[in-house]
Amino acid sequence: MDRTSYKKRVFNVFRYDPTTGGDGHFDRFELDIEDESKTTVLDALLRIQREHDPSLAFRYACRVNMCGSCGMVINGQEGLACKTVIADLRGKEIDLRPLNHFPVVKDLVVDMDPFFEKYQEAMPYFEALEDQKEPSIIPPDSRERKAIGLSTECIACGCCVSSCTMAHWHKDYMGPAALNRAFTLLADSRDGMRVERLARAMDACYNCRLELNCTEVCPKEISPTRAIKYIQRMAAKEVFKGPPTPLETEGEKEIRGEEPVVGEPWSRRRFLSRATVGISAAAGLFIGGLLTAGAFAPALRSRTRQWVRVGGAGEFMSDREGVKTVQIRYQVEDGFYKNRLTKPVMVSRIADPSGVVVFNSRCTHLGCTVHWDEAKKLFVCACHGGAFYPDGRVKAGPPPRPLVRYRTKVEDGQLFVLEA
Ligand code: SF4
Repeated sequence: MDRTSYKKRVFNVFRYDPTTGGDGHFDRFELDIEDESKTTVLDALLRIQREHDPSLAFRYACRVNMCGSCGMVINGQEGLACKTVIADLRGKEIDLRPLNHFPVVKDLVVDMDPFFEKYQEAMPYFEALEDQKEPSIIPPDSRERKAIGLSTECIACGCCVSSCTMAHWHKDYMGPAALNRAFTLLADSRDGMRVERLARAMDACYNCRLELNCTEVCPKEISPTRAIKYIQRMAAKEVFKGPPTPLETEGEKEIRGEEPVVGEPWSRRRFLSRATVGISAAAGLFIGGLLTAGAFAPALRSRTRQWVRVGGAGEFMSDREGVKTVQIRYQVEDGFYKNRLTKPVMVSRIADPSGVVVFNSRCTHLGCTVHWDEAKKLFVCACHGGAFYPDGRVKAGPPPRPLVRYRTKVEDGQLFVLEA
């Protein structure tokens, strides 16, 4: 086999053996990689385990960005090993470390119990209002659904918690993932546990210092910061409502494990705690106002879509392979926060020999990545056996719709797609 075109990459992998203890160390592994654009960090780890050291421990399950098991720190930034493509990592050497703030079990495997204990604090389950009319319909294009939408995509990978410095300094801090979950339920008009949930989230949400690390690293492009700001605004509104209603008193006492006494007068401690929250709330209202104007509202408005450069049009027109996967990179603005996105698209000459067609490479079933199979002459999806004809129509499997086609244009010899 001709290996001259292979690229050499060095992987510095954190090792910790619980039987010997200590601080752990890094082991160095070299791999020759044939095509970096088609090799993920998880592929590399599997090769290291197979070819160099079978004792290397790491977690993975779905391989398609759905299960959240393979979260780790890659070159200093949290990410999923199965989603991180080697070609996107700069430098010859790649450092792999376990997630921060979690006890290490072995090598890259951490104990996720603290994560799920915090998650539990947010009461992550849904209970409907007692007088809820059934079926309760929230239309997909309603403000409410759009506000909650993306936040429900959390896969509990722990990347956001690992990136959060407040999670390091405040061991009791519920953290971005749990607060994001609380937000999805608090913003739901059918939520029957609002008082209890808000009381818990209120205690936690002022630990956030707007560092936006969680939003930066989330592999599902969720903004836990936006969720936390939403809770702070809700909390501020509650505080300015005045003395608690009997319902609030019961709920809050229940959380502390005390017998609820309806209509209990305010204690001094309770007044001071409310006043403290009030001051925080005033700040929260100010920041929340800025964020509402800046970060939250734009998510509800329809954003102006932009043309994103794919590459030189001539390069694709002369391509003999027929279908090429290209990573497009662009920036979207979410209030004052700017999010840099990298998305794979498939440029096909097969569907239209006189020009090119660009498909979104997300499967329309669960959003897994679709690849062109040259032997089968089909687009195939690794999970659930989804298959699409060259023109994007569904051939087999569960995908409910054809592949999404981008609008394209050629300008100054460059191919552009209209961002979806
Ligand atoms: Fe992972 Fe994002 Fe959920 Fe945090 S919010 S646990 S980073 S998917």
